[in-house]
Amino acid sequence: MKVLKFGGTSIGTPQRMRDVAVLIRKELPCVVVLSAVSGTTNALVDVSDSLLKNKKENSIKILNNIETKYVKFICELFSTEACKRKGFELIKNISVRIKKFSSGKFSVKEEKIILAQGELISTGLFSLYLSEIGVSHVLLPALDFMKINKDEEPDTKFIEANLNKQLSENNKVNLFLTQGYICRNSSNEIDNLKRGGSDYSASLIGAAINCEEIQIWTDIDGIHNNDPRFVTNTKPIDELSFDEAAELAYFGAKILHPSSVLPAKEKNVPVRLLNTLKPQAKGTLIHERKIKSNGRHVKAVAAKDGIIAVKIISGRMLLAYGFLRRVFEIFELYKTPIDMITTSEVAVSLTIDDDRNLTGIIKELQKLGNVEVNKNQTIICLVGDFIAEKSGAALRIFNALKNIPLRMISYGGSENNITLLVDTKLKSDVLNSLNKIF
Ligand code: ASP
Ligand code: MG
Repeated sequence: MKVLKFGGTSIGTPQRMRDVAVLIRKELPCVVVLSAVSGTTNALVDVSDSLLKNKKENSIKILNNIETKYVKFICELFSTEACKRKGFELIKNISVRIKKFSSGKFSVKEEKIILAQGELISTGLFSLYLSEIGVSHVLLPALDFMKINKDEEPDTKFIEANLNKQLSENNKVNLFLTQGYICRNSSNEIDNLKRGGSDYSASLIGAAINCEEIQIWTDIDGIHNNDPRFVTNTKPIDELSFDEAAELAYFGAKILHPSSVLPAKEKNVPVRLLNTLKPQAKGTLIHERKIKSNGRHVKAVAAKDGIIAVKIISGRMLLAYGFLRRVFEIFELYKTPIDMITTSEVAVSLTIDDDRNLTGIIKELQKLGNVEVNKNQTIICLVGDFIAEKSGAALRIFNALKNIPLRMISYGGSENNITLLVDTKLKSDVLNSLNKIF
């Protein structure tokens, strides 16, 4: 069994949905996980925002636009009147359900119900389409098996037990369809795995059923060795290890949700990134096998913006122990993850990407020493075989960057990663300079 996930643009038009139906029949038996049609979740976010701000008319206006868009979609997707009617009914029911929220109280609970509708629409329409063309399948409601616990982490035991039960009850079926992104929480309410979470759903499903392979279908042919928005001539990378893929996904390669690497890694299920627009392209294979170095050290680079650098300078660090613990405790208190860290004997620099509690953090840190904050920073993450290759990698990297002021450098945290921090203004220069050494 394989798990195939299709993103919003891969099912963004009726024609694309039809193409997906052709693709999946070559990969049977499989579980197909769908995102919402592109643009839908954003529109639903706008509907909820309007309701939260009590702008009812605006929410109705956005909702009517969504409805109009889907009526056109349905007319083009289906050829029979019966299916068109069922499609209209599905949209109408969902729209009526959301419109009910415009009277009465509106909280995050209702918001999450609204956000879930995009995936319910896409899978509902796709299921109807498969039936119209005579492809037998079973639609498995994700809300029956996908669950997060009190800490908002996936409840893997629950997912495994409930999903496998459903599959064994349908053991003659070779095509299952389900929603990405949506789940239930520990109070059994409708919730979600956060924006872009369909990849995470696919990975959790693949791990839960111990599948042969997880395929993530998007509109680019794999993870590229550099950011195609800033650099020309980037190339897809054939293979990555789970750890390399996790670093790249986290530090900017937008193609894969960073959390989605872990469940696959834990069960050693390979993940293949493929392109719906170019199905014959090789894409990127992420797997466990220790990948032999290509002898060129740097395999890929990715960049993540919106980083804040915090420097704490204190004479109390000198020859003292316990100082870093006190620094880390402050970030823990404010539930703010630290990404990068470098130290000297009298100062420590670290980065965060969540500035919601920055004022509180700075106030606490000032009790330990002088604090400097630099905003608008970019993390540049280089992935490759650095330690294994023994020597030369750092020299080539820094040579390529000899004219660029570097704010922080982190080397040796893992064997496959070198991380740099630069001012965001320099990002394009850095990515293009590094491209020369691939
Ligand atoms: N539809 C959700 C979003 O737009 C989940 C996903 O596409 O992965 O964030
Ligand atoms: Mg996505």
